[in-house]
Amino acid sequence: MSHQVGYDDLIKVVLENNPQSNTVMIEEAYEFAREMHEGQYRKSGEPYIIHPVHVAIILADLGLDDNAIAAGLLHDVVEDTDCSSLDLERKFNAEVAFLVEGVTKLDKIQCHSKEERQLESYRKMFVAMAQDVRVIIIKLADRLHNMRTMSFQSPEKQKRIAQETLEIYSPLADRLGIIKLKWELEDLSLRYLEPEIYYDLVERISMKRQERLEYIDEVIRDLKIEMNTMHLQYEIAGRPKHFYSIYRKMITKHKSLDEIYDLIAIRVLVNTVQDCYIVLGLVHSLWKPVPGRIKDYIAMPKPNLYQSLHTTVIGPRGERFEIQIRTFEMHQIAEYGVAAHWLYKQNGNSEQATDSGQLNWLQKLKELQQDAVDSKEFLDNIKLEIFSDTVFVFSPASEVYELPTGSSPLDFAYRVHTEIGNQCVGAKVNGKIVPFDYELQTGDTVEILRSKNSRGPNSNWLKLVKTPQAKNKIRTWLKKNKREENLAKGKESLEHYVKAHHEGAESVFLNVENINRICGKLGYKSADDLYIGIGVGGVSALQVVNRMRDEFKAALAELKTVDEDEIDAQLNAKSNRRSGPAKKNIGGITIHGMDDVGVKFANCCKPVPGDPIVGYITRGSGITVHHRECKNIQNLSEKDRARLIEVNWEGYENSVYEVKIFVEALDRPKITPDVMALINDSQVHIVSITSRVKEHMALMEITVEVGDLQELNIVMEKINAIPDVFAVRRD
Ligand code: MN
Repeated sequence: MSHQVGYDDLIKVVLENNPQSNTVMIEEAYEFAREMHEGQYRKSGEPYIIHPVHVAIILADLGLDDNAIAAGLLHDVVEDTDCSSLDLERKFNAEVAFLVEGVTKLDKIQCHSKEERQLESYRKMFVAMAQDVRVIIIKLADRLHNMRTMSFQSPEKQKRIAQETLEIYSPLADRLGIIKLKWELEDLSLRYLEPEIYYDLVERISMKRQERLEYIDEVIRDLKIEMNTMHLQYEIAGRPKHFYSIYRKMITKHKSLDEIYDLIAIRVLVNTVQDCYIVLGLVHSLWKPVPGRIKDYIAMPKPNLYQSLHTTVIGPRGERFEIQIRTFEMHQIAEYGVAAHWLYKQNGNSEQATDSGQLNWLQKLKELQQDAVDSKEFLDNIKLEIFSDTVFVFSPASEVYELPTGSSPLDFAYRVHTEIGNQCVGAKVNGKIVPFDYELQTGDTVEILRSKNSRGPNSNWLKLVKTPQAKNKIRTWLKKNKREENLAKGKESLEHYVKAHHEGAESVFLNVENINRICGKLGYKSADDLYIGIGVGGVSALQVVNRMRDEFKAALAELKTVDEDEIDAQLNAKSNRRSGPAKKNIGGITIHGMDDVGVKFANCCKPVPGDPIVGYITRGSGITVHHRECKNIQNLSEKDRARLIEVNWEGYENSVYEVKIFVEALDRPKITPDVMALINDSQVHIVSITSRVKEHMALMEITVEVGDLQELNIVMEKINAIPDVFAVRRD
């Protein structure tokens, strides 16, 4: 079997890192990829297989496991050939197929704007990372090899890819702690973005190189002499700084190359943390430290878990240089970051790695899916600054959602589903109820509380949401439901009017066909439009009735004769039975000895069936029914008291009555929605609600429609039982 283009190098690196590797599978993956990519070529003219092989070499060098290396070899077959994910699962295993699938998905991202594309990339990567961080590492290796071989691309493409690498991939490598990849990606990006600066730097740094190396040798020699007296196991190396970091320093600190003293840093590796501090003391006894340049990343690791002691000292020739001191294990993590996990696993040291509590990234990533509360802590540790204008939150089922920073639970609800947004009555974040203006944080688990009886969005919600999608959905709902609300309102007020003034003629005035016939004359297209017209006050119920009276004279005349006879007959029957004075039932009220009189319910006390009531004969507009305890009744003058009349509840079973209740509660988040949700859940209709805040108290005035006193009392008791509600009363 002939192996070309670096396959032998791959196997060498694989075995170096892990002598127990499954080279049979890796060879199979190589052969399969080579077959599948047969006839495909890179821009350089080389066979395509050279690319996946080098990606696999990068992965093997990072110490990744066999499945990841195989996936590296196969990473382009699903995207670029006829091979499917299922084929890979059959031929290799589910894990390899999953990794390739993950990389393929990342490749397929297609968005319209640049911003959108990047946001989508971040999101996909984060999701992939939450599933398996190896997907990202393979993607980084893929990018690195493409960057290394970019000289065959057009200059525009080179710049675009280099820019993207700096914006997304190198920060990601940094966050994952894979500094090795980060440096190379950055240096390559600089080479294509600022070629002149890059080559100038390379030249000037190499010119000084010899001089620097001699100086470094001198320093190392001095240090070694001291170190040897301590009987410590150690390694010392001079490390040239990479170009991009020098370039960044020149730009951000406005310094020339000559002013950058730490072009080379000295690195001391020892066995234990204690040894690190011993070496630090030793270094400071040899050379004077520069104040403010001592950094203890051992006590306070960087977010990507980097640990080391840094100090800058003034050396033997008065020149400054940086010394980094860390343990061998810390160094492994510093170079390989998250990938160090596999290194340790393969070297049989996984116990140690896990016990250290630092290398269990994968474990934590898995927990992230299982235990969202713990994942908050984890996410705090790896707070990805590159996602600074984005937050990632989780549904209770651990699905990841990406939202702009400053988003509220309502944004989340609408992102999940329009109906979930529309039915939202509250939200829990990490198990606790939060107000609608809560700002979602990365790692939050958001649970939306909803109710089918929710009143739906209101215009206030528009101020609480951040995403345009949520705003649009709320606006759409408001537009549509205002119509329905007004329609219902208009229909109801016409019914009320007809019942109050033309009782018995409902069959004429409330007949939809009749309304449809006259609506054009009032300027409305349909009965529904006319109802809406009444609802919004464009036309009054009286106008509609007058128009219909003209139109349906004949029908009304006929009705009157029939109806009056019938009513008379009923009244006679009743009075005969009870042998009392005639009485008439209007709106659930009977009034003794009275006939044909208008009855209204007083607005001041809004009595409901079950309340003790009394009627008041007004001057010219019938009888107003009050609660017996109503202040207006209590305060009547002697003279006006003569106008009071006995009234009783009767036949109210099919009616509803408006009643006003007052709620006093602690002004805690979501108190008003809580009260509203409870009323809605009790199947009680809310007519209106106003809420204001006074000295940490939420004062609500709610008008509801109830059938009788019993129903009202039940609702009031339930409201009273809501935590933080102090008082519920009628006026
Ligand atoms: Mn590729």
